[in-house]
Amino acid sequence: MTGSVEKGTLYVISAPSGAGKTSLVAAMLEQDPVLCVSVSHTTRAMRPGEQDGVNYHFTDRPTFESMIEAGDFLEHAQVFGNYYGTSQSWVEKTLAEGRDVILEIDWQGAEQVRHLIPDCVSIFILPPSPEALHERLTKRAQDDHEVIQRRLEEAADECRNALAFDYLVVNDDFDRALGDLLSVVCAQRLHISRQGPRQADLLSRLT
Ligand code: GDP
Ligand code: ADP
Ligand code: 5GP
Repeated sequence: MTGSVEKGTLYVISAPSGAGKTSLVAAMLEQDPVLCVSVSHTTRAMRPGEQDGVNYHFTDRPTFESMIEAGDFLEHAQVFGNYYGTSQSWVEKTLAEGRDVILEIDWQGAEQVRHLIPDCVSIFILPPSPEALHERLTKRAQDDHEVIQRRLEEAADECRNALAFDYLVVNDDFDRALGDLLSVVCAQRLHISRQGPRQADLLSRLT
């Protein structure tokens, strides 16, 4: 062993708003201590129950724009009229520590990340039906009527990009979808590109 840390895998998870990605990612983190999620910067207003630095780094527009200028973001995009962006330095540092990092970002951000980091693993989450999406957004009861309408109108745009992702998971039964996501993570860890070097010693003893 060289003692050098094996770099983590970068996961990009996108879905139309209300499909369940935040709940699913939170459940993934509970089950797998090697996974962690990047806390994005956003200019949108804080929802009831959200905490600065936990759900997002809530940032005003001038600050966000100066961060764009400074090249602080791995990717950024305007979603539903607000800026959202991923901290480049945090993602780099955390991957270098050997942690697997999840980005919960929209399709525009996913496109940028796939271009910059071609070996990232991208997963799109679909709701089981348009009706279920409507019901989940309404039941979440965290956005006002106009915000929900706008998110529903833009859901089709988000879903049109689903086929550009590596994996597609349907969030009908929550535990089933969670199992599917954890299976993707498990498969990446078993991939020959990772297991080959990791098991080099075992392989040499067996050959
Ligand atoms: P929710 O994910 O539907 O609960 O709604 P949010 O307001 O938290 O997120 C709105 C949209 O912004 C979603 O499509 C997210 O995937 C996207 N988003 C969140 N953080 C980022 C980010 O750092 N970069 C990009 N590009 N999109 C983000
Ligand atoms: P997103 O982050 O994609 O906007 P959330 O994780 O906030 O979505 O989920 C939206 C709402 O749908 C939440 O109230 C959540 O509890 C609910 N939800 C998530 N997954 C399911 C599911 N499989 N069945 C029923 N409701 C779900
Ligand atoms: P919400 O405001 O409901 O938390 O998120 C709305 C949308 O913004 C979601 O689709 C979410 O994935 C996306 N989003 C959140 N953070 C980021 C980010 O850092 N970058 C990008 N591109 N999208 C983000």
